[in-house]
Amino acid sequence: YIGTVEAPFIREMSEVTHNMWRNGWDERNGGNVSYIIDESEVAKYIDIHNVLRTIKPTFPVHDLAGKYFVVTGSGKYFKNVMADSELNLGVLRVSKKGEELEVLWGLRDGGVPTSELPSHFMSHMARLKADPNHRVVLHTHATNVIAMTFIHDLDEDRFTKTLWEMCTECLVVFPDGVSVIPWIVPGTTEIGRATSEKMKSSRVVIWPQHGIYGAGTTIDETFGLIETVEKAAQVYMLIAHLPIKQSITELQLRDLAKAFGVTPKPGVLKD
Ligand code: 13P
Ligand code: ZN
Repeated sequence: YIGTVEAPFIREMSEVTHNMWRNGWDERNGGNVSYIIDESEVAKYIDIHNVLRTIKPTFPVHDLAGKYFVVTGSGKYFKNVMADSELNLGVLRVSKKGEELEVLWGLRDGGVPTSELPSHFMSHMARLKADPNHRVVLHTHATNVIAMTFIHDLDEDRFTKTLWEMCTECLVVFPDGVSVIPWIVPGTTEIGRATSEKMKSSRVVIWPQHGIYGAGTTIDETFGLIETVEKAAQVYMLIAHLPIKQSITELQLRDLAKAFGVTPKPGVLKD
């Protein structure tokens, strides 16, 4: 095997966690990422017949049986992933019967996968039904998204419309809008269920006063989606308390959708 640390999926995880940390979104152990990898890709770098140990999940994972994931470890600091990926990341396989998680690499020194695994795995199940190419779930404490949940109405259509109005290209990047769940205790199957219910029809789920979940087919696309939402929230936080002289109109949003061939989430714009 070529060194596992050299695997493209480990490099991508190291880079994305580093970038999120640099953005100030992942203080301390904040945030978590999980990424579905093809067996053939994992097998190039890791002995897939050598299970280091198994972990019993507290929620059903049958729908993901046989799938391989690279995940961030619980309590790990994103700032440190680059320097020691084997301590801070793990490669797991959901067992054939979907009852156990088999650790194949990483999570050294008895580490465990992120405490948000219920939300991640349930979201993967929901997104795979919506999009067979889906692969990534990313959670981060995006600063301005959190700030915005203190002062903006949490109705998801009104929240979506405000974000679309903040930067011209938002509607093009997330025409499906953002969804919002109520405040729920993190790490629970309850927040996992609420998040994955929204993931059936949306790639972005906002957790009030906590952060954001994004889903996508690649790390780049998912990170880009969250960056775009966070940027819009930042603009909102910069202008919300100032007298507005001009803004993007509904007609302009509709023109934008037509020009870029996207369909805005029904109900957000007035018909
Ligand atoms: P973990 O360190 O267990 O991934 O938890 C971080 C977090 O952001 C919880 O929501
Ligand atoms: Zn969190």
